[in-house]
Amino acid sequence: MNSLPKELFTNLDNSISEFCGYEKNEVETEILEIFTEKEKTTKLQNENGYLFLSKTPFYAEKGGQVSDRGWINKEDNLAQVQDVKLVNNKFHLHKVSVKGILRVGEKVMAKIDIDRRRKIACNHSSTHLLNSALHLVLGSEIQQDGSYLDNKILRLDFNHENNLSKEEIIAVENQVEEWIKKGYPCQINYETYEQALNRKALAFFTEKYENIVRTVQFGDFSLELCGGTHVNNSSEIGDFLITKQEKKGKNNLRLEAIATQETVNNYLQEKITTANKEVEKAKDEYNKYKEKLPNEEFASLLKSFPLKISKDNYRKLNLAENLLINFKQWKKKLEKKLIEEKINLYSSLPLRNHSEFFYLIYEFKNEKGDFLKVLAEKYCQLYNPILIIFFSKSTKKNNYLFLVTISKDLSRTKKINTQTIANQITKLYNGKFGGNDLLAQGFINTEKIEIEEELKKTLFKK
Ligand SMILES: [Zn+2]
Repeated sequence: MNSLPKELFTNLDNSISEFCGYEKNEVETEILEIFTEKEKTTKLQNENGYLFLSKTPFYAEKGGQVSDRGWINKEDNLAQVQDVKLVNNKFHLHKVSVKGILRVGEKVMAKIDIDRRRKIACNHSSTHLLNSALHLVLGSEIQQDGSYLDNKILRLDFNHENNLSKEEIIAVENQVEEWIKKGYPCQINYETYEQALNRKALAFFTEKYENIVRTVQFGDFSLELCGGTHVNNSSEIGDFLITKQEKKGKNNLRLEAIATQETVNNYLQEKITTANKEVEKAKDEYNKYKEKLPNEEFASLLKSFPLKISKDNYRKLNLAENLLINFKQWKKKLEKKLIEEKINLYSSLPLRNHSEFFYLIYEFKNEKGDFLKVLAEKYCQLYNPILIIFFSKSTKKNNYLFLVTISKDLSRTKKINTQTIANQITKLYNGKFGGNDLLAQGFINTEKIEIEEELKKTLFKK
């Protein structure tokens, strides 16, 4: 929409697009101008384009608030309104997708999506309340630097060097919630810019205002110059929750929040349920192995779960994070322990003697590479010099992973090279490998191996 050439709109009649969206959700109006992406036209038929109306209830994107969406129709000919922008700062340009046909000069009904508007209004009024609460909690030097809001979230940027503490966030939320609960009517006034400033209305000093300005007021704590759409009473907002904070440059902080009971409830439900599920998974695994490796700290952290859905518990979600960190550390220790135990099971594999070194060739079932590596290291320490070739048959995939390693002393003699052996194995059985002169690992695609015989023929024949 931003890419539309400006010269398209040079001759717009000053009488078009009177905005009546503060009072009305729908209005009978007339199509005054129609445009495609490239040119002025007289109709749109089953295609996308742009409409100007004599009157419109559609709020155009401005002051951080997104535009309304909705419908424009004449009987069954229907235009979906996807976006509305202000052209030359005053004309409402409706981006539409038309089913049927709409022509210049036709009388049509224009109707906004009321539910979406209601959510946007809740978020806009919440932004004002949040701004005031920040002034109360953090101090009057707080200056809004920008905002954005749609039907899902609201964002407010302001000057603040550090992240807010947990206590500050709760204080701000509690203040906003109190104003929502007490139910303050939203008072809209039109007054001169000077009158508004005398009443200490908050304004963007970078913005140019007309002589008569619109002010939006809740109680005696919130007064802003604002052209946006709002609730009639702060109680309509229902609920409010700060969901995120983020540094914006060196001196600014961005808060993201949500409003309305439905949105807040859904959000809490999703976050807490996800955390509970993750904790439950960790708990199951812990219970399976707790006799092998008890962890009292983890067990005591588990006692707070599952968390019930509530704002207080949302603020305690770092408990779940701590618990999962603790669980990960425990699991690492457990894996190490399990490997050690298993290594003991394989402490007397059949070692062979070559004239100059030991060698060990062994076939496992469904063992992972990590385990084979640790076991091989152990044998390298105990028997030196040694060549080790391990295979592990995967019963699922019908292939083998393998590992070839030699002790350092054997590598120094340069008589045996792991990559040469790995290369031989992958040639015999169609596979791939990677590694270095001390250790090579790979896969081969075969159901059965007779590697020892093969190797004896080539490697050990001298
Ligand atoms: Zn506003």
